[in-house]
Amino acid sequence: MIPLCLSLQGKTLGENIALLKELKGHFDLAEIRADYLQEDQREELASFPARLDVPAILSCRRAREGGGCTSDEPTRLSLLEEGLKGSYAYLDLESDCLDTGLEEQGRAKGTRIIRSFYCRGKIPPELPALMKDRADRGEIPRVVMGLETSREQEELLTLSRRLEGIDEYLLLGEGAFGSPARILAGKLGAAFTYCTAAVTADREDEFPVEVMDELYRVREIDRETAVFGIIGNPVMHSKSPAIHNPGFSVIGMKAVYLPFPTDDPEAFFRLSRELDIRGFSVTMPFKNAVLPFLHEMTEGVAAVKSCNTVVRRGDRWWGCNTDVEGFLFSLDSWFPRGLSSVKTAVLGAGGAAGAIVYGLVSRGADVTVYNRTTEKALQCAEKYGCSWGSLRDFHREGDYPLIIQATGVGMHPHEESDPAPDYRFSGREAVVDIIYYPEETRFLRRAREAGCRTMNGLAMLKAQGVLQFRLFTGREYPPDL
Ligand code: NAP
Repeated sequence: MIPLCLSLQGKTLGENIALLKELKGHFDLAEIRADYLQEDQREELASFPARLDVPAILSCRRAREGGGCTSDEPTRLSLLEEGLKGSYAYLDLESDCLDTGLEEQGRAKGTRIIRSFYCRGKIPPELPALMKDRADRGEIPRVVMGLETSREQEELLTLSRRLEGIDEYLLLGEGAFGSPARILAGKLGAAFTYCTAAVTADREDEFPVEVMDELYRVREIDRETAVFGIIGNPVMHSKSPAIHNPGFSVIGMKAVYLPFPTDDPEAFFRLSRELDIRGFSVTMPFKNAVLPFLHEMTEGVAAVKSCNTVVRRGDRWWGCNTDVEGFLFSLDSWFPRGLSSVKTAVLGAGGAAGAIVYGLVSRGADVTVYNRTTEKALQCAEKYGCSWGSLRDFHREGDYPLIIQATGVGMHPHEESDPAPDYRFSGREAVVDIIYYPEETRFLRRAREAGCRTMNGLAMLKAQGVLQFRLFTGREYPPDL
């Protein structure tokens, strides 16, 4: 079991204590961020640990490391010195803040030093040796890396391989690309991991404590835990973790499924080998880009050139596409007598749209595909044997009993965008927007307000996720979830 540390960022100690009470049971350690406390509250730092029933970490992060402390260094150190009069289990000190006297003070009171090394983009080659040196002095070295690419993510997530001889260490990544390090801390052999009470919009690497504890069950993750995930960019909004993780829990499988922000599929395939990732989902914009890395693929993937599911088979990667079946399954209740000859407009000609057109045509629907880039609409039409048009002309075209919105337009954070703003719904159309974040796009809202039957992408997501679960685990998805 890996301890989960709740980082407290309230302005007052009272606020922090209230949070600890509210979230009790979800964490094992608490870090008090003195840099976020109001001036008058900082004087009471020494009394704080005695008010907790979990071990406490004292830290006061400087502005240059992304913290809120703007005092000069002597003032900051004397604040920590005062705080250390309390019974803190740990004191967090930066790697350039050596021999301050605080180390001695801490040792005398049984407070361990966490030694934080900050770096950006690249792990300095000398870092493992510097960490070992601090570990040999009884400290816990902690790496905080600012990262923005898959290659940098790969560097952080494979760093533990270079930390032989260091029993306790902490690994943190800042930015969305750093988020897997927090969830996978137990897999990476880290001493503990951090979370916050709530997440601010600008911190995509952090997760709220309940999400870490209940959705990702990070406290149970260790080196044996099987890892699954989803790659995409953006991907932090994905609802797939909420499908797979509860499924693993119910079938009693020691596994976790998490988002991996990615900008380079090749780097991710390399990382997958290193971390023994067993399988992953693929979303925008990589459904086609993963194809060159697959050793085997289904006929469906070969036909639509789009893969949303990658599974490890021994040493080989096998690709499949559950979007098609998932999508058709979600339409079954609307068209119980089938889709044969149903006149259908599909907006978009990307990976998801291609899979949908393939599925609809195979069920006999009369499909016209509309896309912004007309060459792609034409290619799609030639490939699957349907009609095509420009997205710009969609509003002038005939009555469609079924409209499928399969572009990325309207997806978070561009909620107010509309792929066909000039199209006026008659109210007779059945409309699916395969986007599910936000739950209702502007396009879908207009359809509903005009009286159309509407459905967002959640049913499709769930149906394709259920199929993926079977491929990942070899077991059926629990029916009650
Ligand atoms: P993709 O392969 O990158 O294709 C994107 C499509 O959106 C292309 O047709 C593109 O047109 C169009 N597009 C992008 N920006 C546009 C703009 N500003 N104006 C007009 N058209 C624009 O992506 P994908 O994998 O097909 O995914 C598309 C959407 O479906 C995403 O929102 C994704 O989250 C959602 N999705 C949902 C599910 C589900 O289970 N519910 C499954 C898969 C995908 P061009 O060709 O002109 O660039």
